[in-house]
Amino acid sequence: MSTSPESCAALVLNADFRPLSYFPLSLWPWQESVKAVFLDRVNIVSEYERVVRSPSFEMRLPSVISLKEFVPLNRRPAFTRFNVFLRDRFTCQYCARCCPTHELTFDHVVPRSRGGRTVWSNVVTACQGCNLMKGNRLPHHSNMYPRSRPSQPTTFELQENGRAFPPNYLHHSWRDFLYWDSELDPN
Ligand SMILES: [Zn+2]
Repeated sequence: MSTSPESCAALVLNADFRPLSYFPLSLWPWQESVKAVFLDRVNIVSEYERVVRSPSFEMRLPSVISLKEFVPLNRRPAFTRFNVFLRDRFTCQYCARCCPTHELTFDHVVPRSRGGRTVWSNVVTACQGCNLMKGNRLPHHSNMYPRSRPSQPTTFELQENGRAFPPNYLHHSWRDFLYWDSELDPN
């Protein structure tokens, strides 16, 4: 087997064995995971077949690692373009279409030219068409209102939305950890 080490990313679990994030899935390139093993910051939970060698050591590349120190996830999510899209579930807040990220943009509900600020409560996901159509107008001038009132999401809300976009390239050793953390049907 000649798998390239580049394709051997490690799934990173928090100290409680839950993935650090779902979308984008928390993955480290093999160099980083090997370094973290040597620095004793992580435990190896599962490994690839792929072995890396140097004159002084050899090891199988980790496929799942868990942090030794718990990283609290209740801090406020960063105000990034990506997190705005994730809060709005990659859906235009005016026409409700779900678009690929490269077709999405963000809209100031109160336009900047009218004093609107770039903050969670004034920025929504919009497709390019709606953004163009709304232009520099206020919602009641354009008759375009966001479908949900924008506000700062919690990390938990973003995680929940991230679950709706499962990655489609799961190594078999990752599945258990992603699966264990999914909601159980109470029936
Ligand atoms: Zn739209």
